[in-house]
Amino acid sequence: MANVELRGLEKNFGANTVLKGVDLAIRDGEFVVIVGPSGCGKSTLLRLIAGLEPPTQGDILIEGKSALEDAPAQRGVAMVFQSYALYPHLNVFDNMAFGLRMAKMAERDIKAAVEKAAQMLGIEDLLDRRPRELSGGQRQRVAIGRAIVRQPRLFLLDEPLSNLDAGLRVHMRHEFARLHRELATTMIYVTHDQVEAMTLADRIVVLNAGGVEQIGTPQEIYDSPRNLFVAGFLGSPR
Ligand code: ADP
Ligand code: MG
Repeated sequence: MANVELRGLEKNFGANTVLKGVDLAIRDGEFVVIVGPSGCGKSTLLRLIAGLEPPTQGDILIEGKSALEDAPAQRGVAMVFQSYALYPHLNVFDNMAFGLRMAKMAERDIKAAVEKAAQMLGIEDLLDRRPRELSGGQRQRVAIGRAIVRQPRLFLLDEPLSNLDAGLRVHMRHEFARLHRELATTMIYVTHDQVEAMTLADRIVVLNAGGVEQIGTPQEIYDSPRNLFVAGFLGSPR
């Protein structure tokens, strides 16, 4: 697990200011949910933490040390994308093994790690299949498995359930709560689903137009939304 600190994080794409000075301190093992409307900068924020994009300004500290100079693979961070981003030509085993092979782990250890993660996710019977032979829910599990095998100290999840039907979303929501307990890892989870945020989060970060509107426990935000935007998004009507 890792603590993460964002200091004055800014991101511009040309003239478009997408993140305008985000400050956030996330504790070891915390489950933080980031909510906000489409286009407010949620995915960009995760991509900066993962090292897939450089910030325009500001710093990202992981375990107290600036991560800006570290390549994505050195950050100890794993990201699960909304689109799953599986390799279509590789079977499930090879999809999950991909990052470990890149890191030159011994094949015997890779096998053990993949089988353990597959068991944890209930996909141990699917290891020979290609992504196109899987349901949406199964693909989602493979994408999560591919992240778990790397034993990340920090887990980033970008709307991981948005492509699943309602019943499966409820089931996977419980799975994420279980995984968070079992893996004992820090999680930053992006969603625009109010129920996911309220049930999963230790703390919720409400993002709007690239700025933080409010940070608090689900109870705090529900009971005392700071403004109408937060109230409309998550809080009780008043
Ligand atoms: P969210 O995930 O909250 O829906 P994003 O972080 O994906 O929002 O996008 C925030 C804004 O940044 C949008 O206006 C989007 O068009 C812009 N944006 C994101 N990525 C890029 C990029 N690579 N190049 C240019 N603009 C981008
Ligand atoms: Mg997004």
